[in-house]
Amino acid sequence: MGVREGERNSASSVEKTVENLNPYDIAQQQFDTAAQFVADLPNGLRDWLRGTMRLLKVEFPIECDDGSVKIFSGYRALHSRVRGPGKGGIRYHPEVNADEVRALASWMTWKCAVADIPFGGAKGGVICNPKQLSKNELRKVTRRFITELGDSIGPHTDIPAPDINTDPETMAWIYDTYDMMHAGKNNLPVVTGKPVAMGGSLGRNEATARGCLFATRRAIEQGAVPGLNALQGATIAIQGFGNAGSIAARLFAEAGARVIGVSDSTGGVTSESGIDPKAALGHKKRTGSVVGLPETKNITNDELLHLKCDILIPAAFENQIREDNVRGVRAKMIAEAANGPTTPAADRILFERGVPVLPDILANSGGVTVSYFEWVQNIENEHWSEEHVNQNLRDKMEAATDAVLQMQIEIKDRHGANVDLRTAAFALAIKRVTSVALVRGIWP
Ligand code: NAD
Repeated sequence: MGVREGERNSASSVEKTVENLNPYDIAQQQFDTAAQFVADLPNGLRDWLRGTMRLLKVEFPIECDDGSVKIFSGYRALHSRVRGPGKGGIRYHPEVNADEVRALASWMTWKCAVADIPFGGAKGGVICNPKQLSKNELRKVTRRFITELGDSIGPHTDIPAPDINTDPETMAWIYDTYDMMHAGKNNLPVVTGKPVAMGGSLGRNEATARGCLFATRRAIEQGAVPGLNALQGATIAIQGFGNAGSIAARLFAEAGARVIGVSDSTGGVTSESGIDPKAALGHKKRTGSVVGLPETKNITNDELLHLKCDILIPAAFENQIREDNVRGVRAKMIAEAANGPTTPAADRILFERGVPVLPDILANSGGVTVSYFEWVQNIENEHWSEEHVNQNLRDKMEAATDAVLQMQIEIKDRHGANVDLRTAAFALAIKRVTSVALVRGIWP
């Protein structure tokens, strides 16, 4: 069965699973698993950090190009502002829903804590199919959504960024709308991922993929991946060929790895001798898909996940590696460029098999880290060089990777428990958030 652009899973594979795939339930399970290893976490605080601080739902009309009026629904969830303003992307997709947005908001809190940047967690989305909307309609959706969110977002309260199907131009519309509502102030830090010409940071577009490369390389160098000693020469399969996936393909190839498979929502391609990421991107731009790239073999998305490779990089959606398909995964490690791609059942099976999963809250934290650099530059009216951004990103990613690996050892030493890297990363994040919450105290 063909899968249309924008769809998340092949229907056949999802029907087979009996797992609970609700992302918010999964986020809470991950929290619970790790929280038991955090000392000094009072019960009330635990309940608070497990939940969502605020969930807004807005409904608004747009006059479409043909003169008809359509109603859209959008969400913005704020999970925590303990360590700083809420931070998180805005996604446009037909399957956006309250629980997905709440899960993604909580993962942002834990991600910012792992990356050790002074932000909390938030996330938003509009239920729409951007491929069926004109640019003019998308701009209206964005402007009206941001107007409805009103002062719930702001440069020091809740700061959006790009996510699935939103890009620097969308961020420019967000800034412009907010600036119209708050004239006379420096409003640039209200949103990150902006075009470089209007306050965006050099290196932000590549940051998620570059951060994933830095964390993966560091983990390999630290001996965290059985049977893999270097990134140089390693084989890579990448699911999803958008911002995170296509740039990861290019950067991993530039670092000496060999990309042997890539896919998007329409299917995938493989080549043992290696895929040229630039050729794949050019082909996708021309045809709308990676499928049919010359000198490669077409494969399904399930086959992509099951390619024999050293590193599998999911860079599409949640719940891609599940109990029903994980046994076919033949990678030596998984580096999660996407948010929530591996379910708890799949995590357990991979851990038992000795396949480390570099969790999303570490592996894709490069995006929000450079968003933080952009925010700092906007506040200071500065513009950093790309080298400066990338060097700082590298320092942050390596420190975060080391801290997660160290936490895995600490949990073993203190609790006698062997835990996976996700649990170690969550425990590190919960510990960092808790220590700030305790020192601030509960208002009032
Ligand atoms: P994007 O819209 O640029 O790309 C998504 C890609 O996934 C597209 O190529 C699409 O065709 C593909 N896709 C959709 N369904 C698929 C399927 N079933 N199988 C294979 N491919 C499929 O989005 P993005 O910004 O690259 O985000 C991808 C993931 O990375 C998301 O989980 C997002 O939350 C996460 N992420 C993004 C950023 C960022 O800065 N953009 C930062 C951190 C995390």
